[in-house]
Amino acid sequence: PSITSALIMDKEHTYHPLPVVFSTAQGIWVIDPEGRRYMDFLSAYSAVNQGHCHPEIVAALCEQAQKLALSSRAFYNDVFGRFAEYVTKYFGYDMVLPMNTGAEAVETGIKLARKWGYMRKGIPEGRAIVVACMDNFHGRTIGIISMSTDPDSRHGFGPYLPLVGPKCPSTERTVRYNHVEDLEAVLEAHGEFVAGFLVEPIQGEAGIVVPDDGYLRECKRLCERHNVLFIADEIQTGLARTGKMLCVEHDGVRPDILLLGKALSGGMYPVSVALADRDIMLCIKPGEHGSTYGGNPLGCATAMAALKVLKDENMVEKSARLGERFRELLRNIKSPMLKTGTYEVIVHHYIPLTPLSLLLFMSQIKIDIISSGNHISKFSFLPSVRGRGLLNAIVIDEAQSNGKTAWQLCLLLKHRGLLAKPTHVNIIRLAPPLTITEEELINGARIIELALQDI
Ligand code: PLP
Repeated sequence: PSITSALIMDKEHTYHPLPVVFSTAQGIWVIDPEGRRYMDFLSAYSAVNQGHCHPEIVAALCEQAQKLALSSRAFYNDVFGRFAEYVTKYFGYDMVLPMNTGAEAVETGIKLARKWGYMRKGIPEGRAIVVACMDNFHGRTIGIISMSTDPDSRHGFGPYLPLVGPKCPSTERTVRYNHVEDLEAVLEAHGEFVAGFLVEPIQGEAGIVVPDDGYLRECKRLCERHNVLFIADEIQTGLARTGKMLCVEHDGVRPDILLLGKALSGGMYPVSVALADRDIMLCIKPGEHGSTYGGNPLGCATAMAALKVLKDENMVEKSARLGERFRELLRNIKSPMLKTGTYEVIVHHYIPLTPLSLLLFMSQIKIDIISSGNHISKFSFLPSVRGRGLLNAIVIDEAQSNGKTAWQLCLLLKHRGLLAKPTHVNIIRLAPPLTITEEELINGARIIELALQDI
């Protein structure tokens, strides 16, 4: 059997990969061992915003690898200082704390917020709360899954870290994403114990859930009022992916703690950071936090090159412009499998939540209901084609698909030379490298249209 078929027979246990083997890759193109070419519309979950094996990032990595790869933080090296200056100036913060993976950056954010809560805010020892939203995805460590509301991420790994996540102690309130009133209620009730509010500017793994304009701004305003740190997890949304360098810029927000990873090294090497101003960062003292590989010269040199490429190649502007074009192309696809609602309207209504009212709404307007409880106070029409910049998703209407799933559509896309992956059952994330040309993007949209006809 070919390498491809041999590998796909070896069942993967932690992920559920699409049956395709990457052998080489360049830009948006991936080539399998048999020489078949595919357009990558996942970009390693937005880690290769700069395109696979970008020559300038490869050159920086190789050059540094021949000089010095690791010093550990027991000693200085002559690259970390340059990187620290580069990255802090780039994003406008006083200080950086370097780690490796996204999850480590998030853990760093939680630790920083707790420490700041005790040292600066005066929260009594052991009582600091870090609030996160329902349906969040921030990684896979024990601390992080303690915040998760996804049973697949959580179940069987307890006991969990207390006082983190969307469920606030001693209230029934759960903090839903895009419901500023939930955060407000929790801060009104417990603000004195809350050290941080951790949020994804767009919920990626939840299915590219784009919040309403002003949501993040309102959350930031509440955080300021209650002296709570606003922690933005831009690990997936950051670095030009959504048509701004940082997704929070869409709402004019400057986070107190900014978490970056993934494309920070252009998919070349794991590099993540937490950025913050002196007053917050200096709450962590030498010896209290770090990582053997954190801030290593190889990662630092790679990350500087990756950040430079984003600016040199105008990826922010490109992602914004091509994203608009892509959504327009997708919205013009006529397929019963694409849910028809393309509203971005929020309707404030009091509607009793009965099975009948639910059924009526679901069947007539094809909506996703975000709110729940014993009544529906708010409907958000999640558009079937949605996203910002080149972080987009389409929602497959499984009622119209003759039992075919988003997974099967992804197999058809693969057959036609485009790689994408479902997130949740019926949502397909579409996030090509930002090096994609308009022509390639049009071609990608055409492939999606044809695959929808195949099904
Ligand atoms: N935060 C967000 C928003 C993510 O999407 C991810 C990964 O998908 C992470 C954190 C975790 O990053 P890593 O897989 O590098 O630990």
